[in-house]
Amino acid sequence: MEVAIPDRLSVLADVAEVVSQSHDLEETLENVIQRVGLRLNADVCSVYLTDPDLQHLTLRATMGLDPGAVGRVRLSFGDGLVGLAAQSGETVAKAHASQDPNYQYFPETGEERYESLVAAPMKIRRGIVGILVIQSAASRRFDDQDTVVLETCARLLAPVVMNAQLLDLGGRSEDERSKALSRLTEAGLLRPSAENARQEHNVELRGIATARGVAIGPIHRLENPISLHHTEYIPDENPKQEREDLRGALAEARREIDEMRLVVEDRFGPEFAAVFYIQVQILEDKGFVHALEEAVAERGDAVRGLRDVLGQYRRTFDRIEDPYFKERGSDVEDVGRRILEKLLGVRHSQVPVAPGSVVVVDQILPGLFARLEMDKVSAIVAEHGGATSHGAIFARTLEIPAVTGVAGIGVHARSGETAVVDGEAGCVYLSPDTAMLAEYESAQHRYAVAVEHLDAVKGRPAETRDGRRVVLSANVGLVNDLNLVARHGAEGVGLFRTELLALAHRGFPGEEEQEELYSRVCSFLDPAPLTIRTLDLGGDKGIPNIGLEDEENPQLGCRSIRLTLENTRAFRVQLRAILRASTLGNVRLLLPMISGVDELREARKLIEKVKVELLREGVGFDAEIPIGVMIEVPSAALIADALANECDFFSIGTNDLTQYTLAVDRGNERVAHLYEPLHPAVLALIDRSVRSASRFGIPVSVCGEMATHPLAVPLLVGLGIGELSGTPGAVPVVKEIVRALSMDEVARDAREALASASPEEVHAIAASRLRKSGLLEHADIGDWLCNAVEEHVPIDPA
Ligand code: PEP
Ligand code: MG
Repeated sequence: MEVAIPDRLSVLADVAEVVSQSHDLEETLENVIQRVGLRLNADVCSVYLTDPDLQHLTLRATMGLDPGAVGRVRLSFGDGLVGLAAQSGETVAKAHASQDPNYQYFPETGEERYESLVAAPMKIRRGIVGILVIQSAASRRFDDQDTVVLETCARLLAPVVMNAQLLDLGGRSEDERSKALSRLTEAGLLRPSAENARQEHNVELRGIATARGVAIGPIHRLENPISLHHTEYIPDENPKQEREDLRGALAEARREIDEMRLVVEDRFGPEFAAVFYIQVQILEDKGFVHALEEAVAERGDAVRGLRDVLGQYRRTFDRIEDPYFKERGSDVEDVGRRILEKLLGVRHSQVPVAPGSVVVVDQILPGLFARLEMDKVSAIVAEHGGATSHGAIFARTLEIPAVTGVAGIGVHARSGETAVVDGEAGCVYLSPDTAMLAEYESAQHRYAVAVEHLDAVKGRPAETRDGRRVVLSANVGLVNDLNLVARHGAEGVGLFRTELLALAHRGFPGEEEQEELYSRVCSFLDPAPLTIRTLDLGGDKGIPNIGLEDEENPQLGCRSIRLTLENTRAFRVQLRAILRASTLGNVRLLLPMISGVDELREARKLIEKVKVELLREGVGFDAEIPIGVMIEVPSAALIADALANECDFFSIGTNDLTQYTLAVDRGNERVAHLYEPLHPAVLALIDRSVRSASRFGIPVSVCGEMATHPLAVPLLVGLGIGELSGTPGAVPVVKEIVRALSMDEVARDAREALASASPEEVHAIAASRLRKSGLLEHADIGDWLCNAVEEHVPIDPA
């Protein structure tokens, strides 16, 4: 059938008019697609706009597709023909779209009837704000002139979209606005302003503080992982061969993961290697493999099949809000990339790096730790990812300074240039000038001197000048942390956070595995004590291994002991494993988040039941195992007498105690300035707990971050705390502080602090004590301590 070609010039005039009168984006998009669709005689005309992450597109208006798909169809740059236009920045025109290897079908749109497609990018400078698409049934093929017209319409529409986005920023906070602007600049949509352009020196990039420490070294950029979306691959003509290739790639990927697991296990221990089991689990997942085989068989192209299946998985994970599960999406991507590499014949080998290198990567993936000689790596900086990924945990455990989520590092960092990485502040500086370099070198030097001094005095007891002994122990979560316990001279483990096992293992291990692990830790530490805390899930620790349900207010919901008392099966398994391991050393059992005596009684009843079971089975355990209560809810501190009467020790969790006392979510940046463990109200609850403990003759420790804060240490000792448990690396400096104090003086300080009206007054009391004790002028650790304290209270020259 002959189709009348409309007057193309009138389309452009129409669109220009709509655009010039635009005041509402939705309305403008609607008017444009109606006019373009009609005048170009297309069956479908749609607009996809780039999402704020600048990596995805969402269908925002359509004429011809199912209107219900608007706002629901979302694709990545690179996905399908529309995504391809976004990624390449070039118009994609296809007469037989569905036969194209890049074609991707979105069932929500019902688009399979359309064959001919033109997708024109809406460009602003080097960036893409969206894609304008026309589609038609086979009987109407678009020609070159249609393409030119559509491109012009896209060009006319682009500034309207960009303006709407910029106007939208007006209602955001300063911080959000500046982040969005720098994202737009990086994506090439905005001209870099003077301060955004890459300076030669002191280029500051910010990210997420992931592992503490300062490093200075030459940048070593690791190549970006192979792109799943942009790969040259010509499938074999025989589809059978493609299926064979897929099977071969799966087997080879499996072999490679096994190899990496062995290397990592050998270097860093089995807990590190556990993450590779997760990857094997994905590779062997029947659903995943079946979906792959089906997709490859259907498309006759192994890479396309793999890409489509991964696309489906990605869309599923994208919809998940839980950060832990979201991270697992990156495990699937990692496995997918590995399969792709095998299909393309890529093999990884060890990467040689110069000593002291700052390694810049796209994400900190676990495989990195198998490929790099980690003893030569001084820091890791990643463009993407967050502080809870497996790789981030590895970096922290190995005490390698790391910053993640550093937008722009991939664009700005040059191989070989010097970088300063401040893992505590979450900052990276490229090409520091002489002044900045000197500043950081001296910070590094101060830290090194302090560490050297502290290591040298590691063997001395933590005892005040007048002979009060304070036990300094470590908080740990992975078996590998035990090396740090020994290295920094901690006297045992005051808090073993067992929920981290779930993070490393994906799901909580069974009884045998737990027993084996606790036994190992226990034997390693014996005769030093090991305090094992039972599962403390929920709240900020949303590890979904026992089906945590969504709650309106998880911090106040069914978390921690409440959850374990509801799921007694998992609790029993853990209690059995802890009790079985208790014969091998000095084990204490700690119950988290107790808020009243009923919870304590119920938990104790269960412990007794498990003991009877073990007795009946003839399995040995320590019948006298001390059972402690964490004081981390104000109600527990307020009824501390009642609790002390029914337990063997207290451990004060000041992280949560602060959160619940001050009604400040510990993970919410907006209220972070209100999160203050040295608030007199928190001190009052600690004081009350210590007094109860002393009345009932039970020991009391503090195991929150506060235990190692230089300003808090004198006050906690003054309040009568007998044990401080914290990050292993902080133990030496806490010891130095304790040794400079006198019990009389800090007890007086503590009384004064309890009578204070504000945290600021408390800070001043503690800072003055550090000064009077000579710590701030200490030749080796003075400068370093001043730095740590200055953040809270101005340090006057003496
Ligand atoms: C605390 O709340 O202080 C504590 C030590 O437990 P966590 O930080 O694991 O909640
Ligand atoms: Mg807690």
